[in-house]
Amino acid sequence: MTQATASKTDLYLTEADRFSAHNYKPLPVVLERGEGAWVWDVDGNRYLDMLSAYSALNQGHRHPRIMAAAAEQMAKLTLTSRAFHNDQMGPFVRELCEATGYEKALPMNTGAEAVETAIKAVRKWGYQVKGVAVGKAEIIVCENNFHGRTTTIVGFSSEEQYREGFGPFTPGFVTVPYGDADAFEAAVTENTVGFLVEPLQGEGGVIVPADGYLRRTAEICRERGVAFMGDEIQTGLGRTGRLFCCEWEDVRPDMLIVGKALGGGVYPVSALIADAEYMDVFHPGDHGSTFGGNPLGAAIGRASLGVILDEKLSERSDELGTWLTSRLREIDSPHVEEVRGRGLMIGVVIKESSGTARPYCEALQARGILAKETHHQVIRFAPPLTIEQATLEEALVDIEAVLRG
Ligand SMILES: *Cc1c(COP(=O)(O)O)cnc(C)c1O
Repeated sequence: MTQATASKTDLYLTEADRFSAHNYKPLPVVLERGEGAWVWDVDGNRYLDMLSAYSALNQGHRHPRIMAAAAEQMAKLTLTSRAFHNDQMGPFVRELCEATGYEKALPMNTGAEAVETAIKAVRKWGYQVKGVAVGKAEIIVCENNFHGRTTTIVGFSSEEQYREGFGPFTPGFVTVPYGDADAFEAAVTENTVGFLVEPLQGEGGVIVPADGYLRRTAEICRERGVAFMGDEIQTGLGRTGRLFCCEWEDVRPDMLIVGKALGGGVYPVSALIADAEYMDVFHPGDHGSTFGGNPLGAAIGRASLGVILDEKLSERSDELGTWLTSRLREIDSPHVEEVRGRGLMIGVVIKESSGTARPYCEALQARGILAKETHHQVIRFAPPLTIEQATLEEALVDIEAVLRG
């Protein structure tokens, strides 16, 4: 990068810094174009996107089928609000139900909204169906969780920084260690209505729970009349080598929460998916969203889901992920503690004695690979599921050089 071109990037960095809140610490790269697994910055440099917007870009940047669906819908109708029906929402929820095997789906926009929707639904189900005394409903959550950034959700985060300064928080949440089914079982009371869990903790550092954990907790849920609420916002829609990560243990959550890739990297689309037993607690006026289920989002959601299924991106993620994980494990580096994950959701853990993961991500950026550290020690590799194996093969040369560094 020459001095003259560097200043263009610097200008944008300065502007964002000057005119916005400092709630992120992005890599110092300013992107202006994307296609498939590739993005270009304002200085004309090309990078491989190995983050995929935290798995919101499973289909890659500007997938032609999703772009066409968006353009077609934009030329017709974009927003009705739920005060009226539109001709996209019905087909969207039907296709979501058909793809997942549930009776109902309720579209929202962001992931956090879908989680909030699930919390409301499970509490009301607890009072009306399970018979919990009013105001007593408890939801069990896991340590090291990530479910979004609303005040209710950060209230049950175990990450001090997510909470500090934002209280008081919503009561009714009980935290147990992740991956410990016995601890979960011990925490269940007659007031427990739901168990909110990520089948693999993404933000928490790509933590894969021990074999049998999901199956055992789902069993306990069934025995004790507790709704198993799978947050598959990041792990779902092919990312981990299955359509949903819970499938690794043949678990069918009572409530399935999806987002991110449901919008194909184009538009925020999320949903709560569940059977009528849970969804029917909602009556007109109970819950809503101005943009939830809007025709543009629904058309994009249909195309995004269609691409995942028709292009067999779950299978692709499984194959490429298995291959990439073993290739990463073969790298002989004094700095790597462990390589873990499922499908194309891979965490490379840097030893604490080698510093944090951040400088490795900066070194990768200098070599044209964009990856982001999570939880200080982990480099997350989660490229679009459409990526070519040959592209990954080339990237491995740079990844190896950085990790050996
Ligand atoms: C990203 C994420 C969310 C929140 O989604 P937003 O769209 O950022 O609100 C919730 N749960 C999980 C597991 C996530 O990865």
